[in-house]
Amino acid sequence: MTAPEIRVRFAPSPTGYLHVGGARTALFNWLYARQLGGVFLLRIEDTDKARSTDESTRAIFDGLNWLGLHWDETVVYQGSPEHLARHQSDARSLLDRGLAYRCFCTAAELDERRKEADARKTAFKYDRRCDRLAPEDISRRVADGMPFTVRFRVPEGTISWDDIVHDTISFPDKDIEDFVILRSDATPIYNLAVVSDDIAMRISHVMRGDDHISNTPKQILLYHALGAALPRFAHFPMIHGMDGKKLSKRHGATAVADYEHQGILPQAMNNFLALMGWSPGGDREVMTMPEMLELFSEKGLLRKAAVFDTKKLEWMNGQHLSRLTGDDLVNAVAPAFVRAGLFASLDSVEEVKPWFVGVLDDCKERARTTDQLVGLTELFFPGHVVTIDAESAKKNWPDRAVAADLIRASRDRLATLEPWEDKAIETALKTLATERGVGTSPLFQMIRVAVTGKSVGISVTHTIFRLGKVVTLQNIDGALQWLAQGPPA
Ligand code: GLU
Repeated sequence: MTAPEIRVRFAPSPTGYLHVGGARTALFNWLYARQLGGVFLLRIEDTDKARSTDESTRAIFDGLNWLGLHWDETVVYQGSPEHLARHQSDARSLLDRGLAYRCFCTAAELDERRKEADARKTAFKYDRRCDRLAPEDISRRVADGMPFTVRFRVPEGTISWDDIVHDTISFPDKDIEDFVILRSDATPIYNLAVVSDDIAMRISHVMRGDDHISNTPKQILLYHALGAALPRFAHFPMIHGMDGKKLSKRHGATAVADYEHQGILPQAMNNFLALMGWSPGGDREVMTMPEMLELFSEKGLLRKAAVFDTKKLEWMNGQHLSRLTGDDLVNAVAPAFVRAGLFASLDSVEEVKPWFVGVLDDCKERARTTDQLVGLTELFFPGHVVTIDAESAKKNWPDRAVAADLIRASRDRLATLEPWEDKAIETALKTLATERGVGTSPLFQMIRVAVTGKSVGISVTHTIFRLGKVVTLQNIDGALQWLAQGPPA
């Protein structure tokens, strides 16, 4: 007997950007499929025409492509006419087989009854009055063109399933009201559309966020009623902000694209998302996609709420950045350099690749994001004009005359220095510090600001080495001028 095929799906509603929670769901489904030789499908749940937009659909595609979560087969659009027709025919078959009934209660009437229940402090549950209508009454109302919804009749009993994440989850059916599956305009309600599509797409595992747990019993009832085998279900824990509350915009960026634009690498984002609800065991945290694919297992899926810690994401990104080398490093960061205007295009990166790799290798360990890497390396680009940062100047050149004197003396030493090497540069500057009776670090910081305009960066001696003698002296001259005249007006 061959093992049943693994078919999973990511089923976002295109009503906004690709949220980090959605991306995490997509990633877990993708990892599951790829690891087990299964199929990963994408279904755009666009039945809510008023809220669905093409722009959101594009944002979902872009986000998934950026993360490298490529889907198999063609995208399924839930609201397309052929699928809608199937949702309706599934509802019709439930009606025909007496498993669902027409409900003529209007929204206003239901509201009224809900309010009455609230006033009595009881939970509102549909009282099945339309299920008790006589057949001739129903036929007359239908013939009169009276609008109706279709309600699924919830049978007695208890629904339970063996959740991959939570183990057994049970819901007594008495807590579930006869729910609507088709609106009065014949459009399907979410639970019907999802089940109908999941059956048609032969989905073997439905894996999504915990917020869908309350839908699952209804969906299981529909599977039974439609005579289909149940998939396995997995519900991933909610994502919380650092304050323990459900992640929302209040906590900062929640769109995947925002992190792309902040210089986060897709592999770091994937790694970070994977650890929100999964652990490979032990202390292991930093993993590449191939490593995650090897380690991923449903046993490592966690129940407790995951915490979205942007500091950790940045740290993770720094870890991924510093592990990249050669072409991989260039390919990962080059788009950020083009965006920053340091290269005209990706083609122009090719022309100076060995030099670029050298600069990146020098700086990558100090950067947590590609944007920080741009900031650390821009001064090495030909033609870069140093701007002295006023704060850095104030802090490191507290006395301008003293600073100017020491910077000029450093310039003299560097001007005649041979060979131009890290060690020789360091020795020359340390000797000067000793001769002048000043500390090495204050002197190095003074020179750093003179040469780079900033107070942070990679090692001063290596910065000077990499800039070369001509540019170093030029930058120092600019700083001396600044010190003599003050900042440009
Ligand atoms: N469209 C639903 C959502 O975006 C997901 C449906 C599902 O995974 O079953 O939350």
